[in-house]
Amino acid sequence: MPVFSKILSLAGCAGRQQLRPYSAAAQSQLRELLCQQLSGIQEAGTFKAERIITSSQSTQITVQGSDQKILNFCANNYLGLANNPEIVQYSQQLLAKYGAGLSSVRFICGTQDIHKQLERKIAQFHGREDTILYASCFDANAGIFEAILTPEDAVFSDELNHASIIDGIRLRRAKKQRYKHRNLADLEQQLRSTDARLKLIATDGVFSMDGNIAPLARIVELAKKYDALVFVDECHATGFFGATGRGTEEYDNVMGEVDIINSTLGKALGGASGGYTTGPAELISFLRQKSRPYLFSNTLPPAVVAVGLKVMDMLLSSSELTQRVQSNTQRFREAMTKAGFTIAGENHPICPVMLGDARLASTFADEMLTRGIYVIGFSYPVVPQGKARIRVQISAAHTEAEIDRAIQAFIEVGRSLKVIK
Ligand code: PLP
Repeated sequence: MPVFSKILSLAGCAGRQQLRPYSAAAQSQLRELLCQQLSGIQEAGTFKAERIITSSQSTQITVQGSDQKILNFCANNYLGLANNPEIVQYSQQLLAKYGAGLSSVRFICGTQDIHKQLERKIAQFHGREDTILYASCFDANAGIFEAILTPEDAVFSDELNHASIIDGIRLRRAKKQRYKHRNLADLEQQLRSTDARLKLIATDGVFSMDGNIAPLARIVELAKKYDALVFVDECHATGFFGATGRGTEEYDNVMGEVDIINSTLGKALGGASGGYTTGPAELISFLRQKSRPYLFSNTLPPAVVAVGLKVMDMLLSSSELTQRVQSNTQRFREAMTKAGFTIAGENHPICPVMLGDARLASTFADEMLTRGIYVIGFSYPVVPQGKARIRVQISAAHTEAEIDRAIQAFIEVGRSLKVIK
């Protein structure tokens, strides 16, 4: 089958008349419109096909169509806890004790003792007063700006912030100002010229496409100077970044100085799902009254809460995994740089191997897969034109031998594609 027809069939377009006859004109029109757009996405080369994993999430996975184990370097499983036996067992235990779910939002009859325990543990981990759980960090980001800001207030957002922050800010009625990526002069100029009541600076702690870090210490300094609040999304930092995994504020030596932290339970912290806001008690209390994704969406299920509880216990008692992901990262970055590759970002397990050309990135990733290494090429429009790359993500669960195997494969493919000498 030609590639194009294959993609349309994956997208549900090809052969649909035979598969499902339909009569309603409106539905027929909708299908037609969507198929046209799907074709456009395919033609633009940005159609996202999904590889189907047939094992648990791990450093070694199997995918549909092959029995071979492949080495996984593209999950956000930074601490390698996604299939940790102790966590899985505890999750099964709480599933048996507390049931599959609550069939309710929190404020009606959806709060169990374990939800309160997890909120307390997360607050303790971050050194904050209280925490509110959400179904995801996307929800936490969607719920905060609209709840706390009014038209008298202003939010200053890094232009490369995650989509969920951008969407969350779109929902609020406050003044909306974007500052250039990590550009403190631009941020200061905007803070200086506002007459807003509340001023809130919003930034990702770590930007996931480049693995680069928000200049948090200097942002905090500006916030103090202009009497602003600081909000940080720590999805790519909590649990593994900074000396003990407390995130970007620890990395940049401003522990406790950020006003509001949002993060996820769906990446390093066990990889199940869930998100949260942690910060001042009054803020958390207010969000429980006003934040729409919290008020109008089902409670986090007990088996998922259990994952968070067990991970928090592990992180509160030891930083061993944090140190392991950091040393694995250093091993990969140093050897790749020595081999002649350009690795973007700073000291972070997101290691973008910069290639420039989109087709080269895609061919490179395919070649890596033939050597049993699973990495993904990113190109425009996900990253700027001409800045295609392979984004490697390192985990604490990778062994040094696995890291070295990936490096060796990069060197072989890099030489054969003339990326390095
Ligand atoms: N914020 C950032 C920076 C992210 O990378 C992500 C996930 O991709 C999210 C928020 C959303 O997190 P969740 O998967 O918990 O909704």
